[in-house]
Amino acid sequence: MEFPELLFEEEQAYRTACRQVTAFFYANENSLSDVSAIGREIKCCYTALEPFFHDYTESICHECATPCCVNRHGFPDFEDLVLFQAMGISIPEYNFHVIDTDICQFLTKDGCSLTRCMRSYRCTWYFCDYVLDEFEHSHRIIFGKFDSAMSRLGDKRGMLLRQFKHLWFEDRDLTSQ
Ligand code: SF4
Ligand code: SF4
Repeated sequence: MEFPELLFEEEQAYRTACRQVTAFFYANENSLSDVSAIGREIKCCYTALEPFFHDYTESICHECATPCCVNRHGFPDFEDLVLFQAMGISIPEYNFHVIDTDICQFLTKDGCSLTRCMRSYRCTWYFCDYVLDEFEHSHRIIFGKFDSAMSRLGDKRGMLLRQFKHLWFEDRDLTSQ
């Protein structure tokens, strides 16, 4: 079973999903304690990654004439909502009255105004080939460490979502009986 797909054009469906996920964490605090523990580890993964972004990728992106940051990409999917709750952080407020392909509402002249763990996951894993090639070829050893830290984040995220999914769909099965 899959989580519902959230679309930028469907504000009501998005708000319903936010309410459902928040309520589920609130009502199942004990059964979700392992999920929340992984959420705290994930927050540490983001902290460990920040120097790599700060020192090696943001300077390249800062000079970019055609940034890939558009509203549609900054918008979270259902999995991101789960992660926000598990990490104990507030879901950012989105302005839906903007064009989804316009420059992202969180992009400022100093870069993204959201702390890294408040962004959609795609904002962390996606880089254009130019950035990745520059980083890898100019700083091969550091890039290897960055790659390992990114893999650790991805592994933890996958583990968290598998555990959450199990409980979430089990609960939905029970309430539909
Ligand atoms: S990842 Fe590439 S396209 Fe996106 S802002 Fe950075 S340099 Fe520009
Ligand atoms: S990194 Fe920030 S500015 Fe860029 S798309 Fe994501 S939320 Fe928007």
